[in-house]
This record gives sequence, C-alpha cells and structure tokens, in this order.
Amino acid sequence: MARIIAVANQKGGVGKTTTAVNLAACFAEAGKKVLLLDLDPQGNASQGVGVDKNKYDTTIYDVLVDHVPLDQVVLATNYDNLSLVPSHRDLVGAEIELVGENDREFRLRNAIVPVQDAYDYIVLDCPPALGLLTLNGLVAATGVIIPLQCEYYALEGLSELLHTIILVRDNLNADLAVKGVLLTMYQHTNLSRQVMEDVRNHLGTKVFETWIPRNVSLSEAPSYGMPIIHYDNKCAGARYYRMLAQEVDNRA
Ligand code: ATP
Ligand code: MG
Repeated sequence: MARIIAVANQKGGVGKTTTAVNLAACFAEAGKKVLLLDLDPQGNASQGVGVDKNKYDTTIYDVLVDHVPLDQVVLATNYDNLSLVPSHRDLVGAEIELVGENDREFRLRNAIVPVQDAYDYIVLDCPPALGLLTLNGLVAATGVIIPLQCEYYALEGLSELLHTIILVRDNLNADLAVKGVLLTMYQHTNLSRQVMEDVRNHLGTKVFETWIPRNVSLSEAPSYGMPIIHYDNKCAGARYYRMLAQEVDNRA
C-alpha cells in the first residue's frame, strides 16, 4: 500500500510545491511508483511536471465534486514512474460546492483507496490555506511534511497547523503522523542560521536533518516544467532533494 504524504502549510510561498514535485521526482528516480496529486487550484505542481493546468477537462475537481474515479484522471508525465493527477482553476469552487455534503472531508481518501496498491508513494501538494482541500489531504494522508521557510516569522501559523493535524488525527484519520518539518530556502546568512537553530530547538527531532538550500535552479525549473533532477541534475537543489527523499523513505 502506498505511503500518502501531504505537503502542507497554510502559509504561502514556503516551498510546498517545490518540495512535492521534487520529492515525487526523486522517489520515481529511485524506482518507486509515484503519483503526484495537485490539490491546489493554482496548479503549480501540475506545471512543475510539465502539464498545463487548464488543458484537461477532467481533473481532481471532478474526483472531489462528482465522484469521478481517480484512475480516470491520472496522467503519465515525461518521467518514468511518475504520474500526475492535475488540478484545475475550478477547484477554487470545490470548497463551496462540497459544504453541504456530509462526506466532504473524506472525498479524497475514498477516491484514493481503490488505487492505493498501484503506487509506492502518493504525494499531495496542498494549497496555502487550512480549508477543505487541505483537510481532504490530511484525511487521506499517512504522513505530513511541513515546509518552513528560513525567514523571520517561519514559525508563524505552525501551532495552528499542528493543532489542526491533532484534530484530524483524533477525529478523522488516526493514521496521520507528522513525517517531519522541512527547512527550506536556507541561505548562509545570520538570519537563516538563527531560524534553523530556533526551529531545531523548538521542534527537536521532528525537523528533518536534511534542509533545502536557496538555489537558483530550483526557482527556474518550474518554468520549464521540469523537476530539478531533470533540469539541473548536479545542482545543490537536486542533491538536497535526493537526500530528502532518502531521509523520508528511511523514516518509515
Ligand atoms: P503557495 O503557498 O503559493 O502554494 P508554495 O508553498 O507551494 O507556495 P513554492 O511555490 O514551492 O511555495 O515556492 C515559492 C517560490 O519560491 C517559487 O517561486 C519557487 O520557485 C521558489 N522556491 C522554492 N524553493 C526554493 C529554493 N529552495 N530555492 C530557490 N527558490 C525556491
Ligand atoms: Mg504551492
């Protein structure tokens, strides 16, 4: 059965999508069968593996709102072992359309169950909000990765997110574990060093040993629709995301 990893933080621009795309690509490179699932109406994860987010008529939106079977919206990518469930801008409306449904938090989990044996990893890229889409991600997941940007205010919002995770675990998904907190966009500055030290003091072993450096290639790769290991195989970003994939895989 697949391990289902939600990459979540309601704070915007902290490296969720970069992490979801590159972790998925590194798992696939290591021979795992991987499904990257784009839960964000922005569709950045879809674009990150070269898929135009508005090209497809049936997407994760139809899975969540109209019970279309998940395997009907899975697309192959240009990369071995890596498949994608694309997003669509209509997904913005899904939160409202699902409000009155009593299984609204379980739509994604129920959709994943029939395909769970077909993959080693299912990676969920969550939007920057703690709404129903992220909640569907947390209810479907077996583990959460929380990216924190090495900037002032890195910990802002974290207690709210951790509280939500505890509520989900207590009420909706007993299997949910925090896989780890990931420090992203690390630079060799006093501020980055201080943030890293504070976060490690505060959260201890919950923080991955691997951090992700700020790296120009990582910011360029999405515009070519390529994961970092295919865009610039030897850059620091590629090396560190490979190390992260290894660490996540080891943290069973
Ligand atoms: P959102 O909340 O909008 O979904 P996000 O949390 O998914 O954002 P990303 O889209 O992954 O964050 O990253 C935000 C921006 O920072 C993007 O332009 C991305 O290319 C860039 N970025 C992310 N990680 C790095 C890095 N390690 N080095 C350099 N640039 C990065
Ligand atoms: Mg994103």
